[in-house]
Amino acid sequence: MKTALVWFRRDLRLADNPALAAALDAFDRVVPIHIHAPEEEAPWAPGAASRWWLHGSLESLDKDLRERGSALHLARGPTLEALLRLVEELGASAVYWNRLYEPAITRRDREIKRVLGERGVQARSFKATLLFEPWEVQTNQDQPYRVFTPFWRKARTQLQLRPPLPSPKKVPSIGAGSGLQLAALELLPTRNWDEGLHARWSRGEASAAKALSGFVDSSLAEYVDERDRPDLDATSGLSPHLHFGEISPMQIAWELDQRSGRAGHAEHANAAEGFLRQLAWREFSQHLLFHFPDMPERNLNPRFDAFKWADDDVGFIRRWQQGRTGIPMVDAGMRELWVSGTMHNRVRMLVASFLTKNLRQHWHHGQRWFWDTLVDADLANNAQGWQWTAGCGVDASPYFRIFNPVGQGIKFDPQGDYVRRWVAELSDVPAPLIHRPWMDNGLLARCGYPPPMIDLDASRQWALAAYKDLRA
Ligand code: FAD
Repeated sequence: MKTALVWFRRDLRLADNPALAAALDAFDRVVPIHIHAPEEEAPWAPGAASRWWLHGSLESLDKDLRERGSALHLARGPTLEALLRLVEELGASAVYWNRLYEPAITRRDREIKRVLGERGVQARSFKATLLFEPWEVQTNQDQPYRVFTPFWRKARTQLQLRPPLPSPKKVPSIGAGSGLQLAALELLPTRNWDEGLHARWSRGEASAAKALSGFVDSSLAEYVDERDRPDLDATSGLSPHLHFGEISPMQIAWELDQRSGRAGHAEHANAAEGFLRQLAWREFSQHLLFHFPDMPERNLNPRFDAFKWADDDVGFIRRWQQGRTGIPMVDAGMRELWVSGTMHNRVRMLVASFLTKNLRQHWHHGQRWFWDTLVDADLANNAQGWQWTAGCGVDASPYFRIFNPVGQGIKFDPQGDYVRRWVAELSDVPAPLIHRPWMDNGLLARCGYPPPMIDLDASRQWALAAYKDLRA
C-alpha cells in the first residue's frame, strides 16, 4: 500500500486542488493533514479575524473529507518535525502540497523540500493559488513588472484557462483524524466579539462556490459600473474565500468565461473582463511580494524613507481605529471593519488616505490594524493596498492625491445609506447633510456624533507641505 500525505495550508478545498488530485492518482492511500504553526509566519502570524475564519474553514474541510471516507489530520508545528513524524508513523513515501509565495513560507518550504528529499521522501509542490506563478510573467528584459497595466496586458495574453479539477468522490485514507481536536488550536476568540462575523460570513468550500454563483447571477453584469459603490451589494465578497483557498482563481476565471461565452449573455463579456482585471490585482500583489519580499516592512519607493510621519501624541490612531474621527465615511468604514471583518475597497482607500495623509501616520499602523481585523487579511494585498494609498509603492497613487472623504461620500454613497448602516448616531440624518453633518448647527450635539477631529483642508495642506519637504 503506497501512502502520501497531502499537506493542506491555504488551499482549503477539495475541488481544483492539484496536490490532492495528483496524490489520489498516484497513491493507494492519501492522508490529508493540516499543521498549526503560526509562529513560522512571524512577524505576520495570522491575526484574530483570520484565525476565526481558519477555524470555520478547517471545520468545513474536515466535514467534506468525512463525507468521502476520510478526515483532516491535525498536528502542531514545528512543521518539519511534524511532517517527519507523520511520514514515519503513517509509513508515507511522499508529501504533496500547493505552493504559497510569502517570504517566511517559501523559506520554510524550501528547507522542508530539501530535508524530505534527503530522507528519501518524495516532496512535490503544485501551482494552485494563482493563475500565474510570480516568475511566469516577466518584461521582455526578463525583469519582474513594477507597474500593473503592462503586467496585466502581458499576463492576459498568457492566460490559459482549463476546466477546474473535479472534487474527488472518495479519499481512501487511514482511519479517522488524529486525536488533536480543532478546538485545541484555540483559533476562536475567548471574548465574544465575533457575532458580526457570523452574521456576515459563511466559511468553507461550499459557501465560496455559492458566493461566486450568487455574484455572477445577480451582480456581475453591473460590476464595472457599480464596484465603487459601498452602499450597494455590488462586489463578490470572495476575498477571504480566495485567501484561504476555498476557491481557486482558475475556478473563478473558468466560470466567468463559461457564463460570458453562453448565448444570450453577451453583456457579461465586458463585465467578466472587468472582474478578471480586479482579480489580476491579487496576482500582481503576490508577484510584487515574491520579487520584493520586504514589501510588508519597507517602502517600495525608497525616497519615502525620509518622509516625516507625525507623532501620535494625541491618540489619532486610536480614534481612527474606533471609527470616532467625526468624518462619516471614515467612521462608517472603520466600524464596518470592526463589526463585519471587511470593508469595501473604495472605503479602504479613503480610510488609508485619511490615516497616512490627513493624520500623517505611518502606513504600518494601518496595515497592522487591518491585519488583525480583516477576515481577508493577506500579506501581499494588504501591503500593496497600503503602499499604493500612501504613495510609497512602485505603482502607487501619487502622494499628492489626497482623497476627500466628503466628496467621495457624496459621489459613491449618494443617499448616505452606507453611512447610515454603520454609524448609528447618524441613522436619521437626511442625504444632503449625511457626509457633512457639521454644516447644521446643533445637529452633532443632537445626534451625539463627534465633530471632525481635524480640519480636512488644513490637514491636506499640512500633508502636502511634508511631501514638498521630501521632494526638496
Ligand atoms: P471584488 O471587487 O469582488 O474583487 C474580486 C477579487 O479580486 C477580490 O476578492 C480580490 O481577491 C481581488 N481584488 C479586488 N481588488 C483588489 C485590489 N485592489 N488588490 C488586490 N486584490 C484585489 N484585499 C485582500 O484580499 N486582503 C487584504 O488584506 C487587503 N487589504 C487592503 C488594504 C488596503 C489599504 C486597500 C486599499 C485594499 C486592500 N485589499 C485587500 C484589496 C481590496 O480592497 C479587497 O480585495 C476587496 O475589497 C475584497 O472585496 P471583494 O472580494 O468583494 O472584491
